Amino acid sequence: MVPLFDPKPQHEQVAAEVHAETRAVLDSGQFILGQHVRAFEEEVADYHGVSEAIGVASGTDALHLSLLAAGVGPGDEVITSPFSFIAGVEAILYCGATPVFVDIRRDSMNLDESLLEEAVTERTRAIMPVHLFGLAQDMDRIMAVAEKHGLKVIEDCAQAFGARFDDRPVGSFGHSGCFSFFPTKNLGGYGDGGLVTTDDPEMAERIRVLRSHGSAVRYHHDVVGFNSRLDEVQAAALRVKLRHLEDFNQSRREIAARYQEGLSGLPIRLPEAGDRHYQVYGQYTVQVEGRDRVRKRLGQAGIGTAIYYPIPLHRQAVCGDRYQSLSLPVCESVAESCFSLPMFPGMTLDQADEVIAAVKESLS
Ligand SMILES: *Cc1c(COP(=O)(O)O)cnc(C)c1O
Repeated sequence: MVPLFDPKPQHEQVAAEVHAETRAVLDSGQFILGQHVRAFEEEVADYHGVSEAIGVASGTDALHLSLLAAGVGPGDEVITSPFSFIAGVEAILYCGATPVFVDIRRDSMNLDESLLEEAVTERTRAIMPVHLFGLAQDMDRIMAVAEKHGLKVIEDCAQAFGARFDDRPVGSFGHSGCFSFFPTKNLGGYGDGGLVTTDDPEMAERIRVLRSHGSAVRYHHDVVGFNSRLDEVQAAALRVKLRHLEDFNQSRREIAARYQEGLSGLPIRLPEAGDRHYQVYGQYTVQVEGRDRVRKRLGQAGIGTAIYYPIPLHRQAVCGDRYQSLSLPVCESVAESCFSLPMFPGMTLDQADEVIAAVKESLS
């Protein structure tokens, strides 16, 4: 039996520190926008080598508030990946803007950088690349297109805290980087939470105002804002976990290396990261012919798997018939052949070997 995800090993590693820090918050009576949120914001900004970080209530809000702060509004188009979690599309739609999907690459499963430029129109306002499964996009190519056309770049880093491209962390390339602390993410909290990184002080200030009811000065409200704050208990726990992040990501990478070794040469496509990438395996996602049969056999062997994502975003009911005539063949094919294997910090090599044996068996 190997679960798809198990939060216990990483919790055990940090439990004593998290108990002490969160208990101190409970005893302090200071729960909203206090010293831990401020310190966590500084620590995350330092980690990314950017000037600002702003804690918010979720990764979805990080995307939404970033788009608003970047000036995205009704009539604008935002280019993004059709192969991702729904949150990015929701954030674009909340702004009254239109998601424009370009196809993905089969190797990285990220949006195909070579298709970006032809998707730009005079209405394009921003690009929202997604560093899916902990693998960075080629940010050189994305930033080059953005600069040429004067577009904002909002990076969706929800699955990639600590991932690097050319040794530089994701979330430090674009106009903002959006992170989620949902418990299964690379930096997972004990509930919901999110954060925006940016090097642009004006953008940071706008997001600070938006997250707190449109108010820079208490009880003076200049714009329609939101209640979207990271709380002190989460921030205190996340500060502890940030100190262990490289360990957690290293553990994911060791499991991925074991899978790579044990599964190569089989009729199954493994994730590929080029030399310029430090991948942190938010998920370990493979592609295989006859996916549903393979998954069923793995389930019978007690191996937890999941499909991220079975339905491309342009085929989701929430998008209506807006994309009826849009065909994105690589994305549609990957959605039919992909599934994810167990992956979490503290997973043992014995567990990885059990998964490898079961995958071999299910392919035979
Ligand atoms: C998890 C996730 C989000 C949303 O984060 P929440 O904190 O759950 O709102 C956004 N984008 C991607 C790619 C995600 O995986």
